[in-house]
Amino acid sequence: MPELPEVETIKRSLQKSIVGKKIIGIEVILAKQFQGEKRDVVGTNIQGIERKGKILKISLSNGKNLLIHFKLTGQLVWVPKKGERVTLGHPVPFAGSNLPAKTTHIIFDIDEGQLFFNDLRQFGWIKVLDEAGVVKEVGKLGAEPLDKEFSEEYLKQIFSRTAKPVKVVLMDQEKIAGVGNIYANDALFEAGISPTSPAKALSETQIKKLRESIIKVLEDGLKYGGSSAADEAYIKPTGEAGEYQKHFRVYQREGQKCSKCGRTIKRINLSGRGTFFCPICQKQ
Ligand SMILES: [Zn+2]
Repeated sequence: MPELPEVETIKRSLQKSIVGKKIIGIEVILAKQFQGEKRDVVGTNIQGIERKGKILKISLSNGKNLLIHFKLTGQLVWVPKKGERVTLGHPVPFAGSNLPAKTTHIIFDIDEGQLFFNDLRQFGWIKVLDEAGVVKEVGKLGAEPLDKEFSEEYLKQIFSRTAKPVKVVLMDQEKIAGVGNIYANDALFEAGISPTSPAKALSETQIKKLRESIIKVLEDGLKYGGSSAADEAYIKPTGEAGEYQKHFRVYQREGQKCSKCGRTIKRINLSGRGTFFCPICQKQ
């Protein structure tokens, strides 16, 4: 699932390509993925794009917004030309080289180009909402880890209240917005903390180190344009892949050598999610 670095990369790319442009039409191929009225969108100009955790918010000139959640396999691909069938410079995972593909469920006709929403698993959604609707949808999100609000004090507070494994708390969107399985695994390795440690058992030193590690791995993710591992659908709106998967610390590296101590990285299941760690370097 696209996490903070992936959605932020999508945001920055679309800010360059579609902000200021007019939405001329929408074709909804799979109705369950589009919630709202097309007439609230068609004819408006795209004024700005923000990210709220893993959710993208596109503001329109009539005060409405498009809120987009990619869930497991959602993609946005911008093609700066029109045509019934367009060929891409880069093949897109689960869609191929031509759009619309079988996985294309919504198409925005925007000035001289088209924005394709593809989603193999069909859990993603696009909602048309006014500001109050946006607040209802994203108002419960926790602190943004790259913002000032993500302080040591904030982490201390959320950890002190729960004995849940620290990794589960890191992935709780109502506590920290945008951190998912990839970056939670890698941040805990970076901090030398076991993913199963009870959150409230962490020392002040561990919390300080963990905060720095979360920021470090997210910034790394951003630097490499997000993670496009073989089993993931994520790509940039240009159709290009991200490269953070070449820099995974422990995520999906079960059986491989730890970069710090050379011992074998292990995988366990924690709350239903694949959890990767070095049993030597990561302490309870
Ligand atoms: Zn190690």
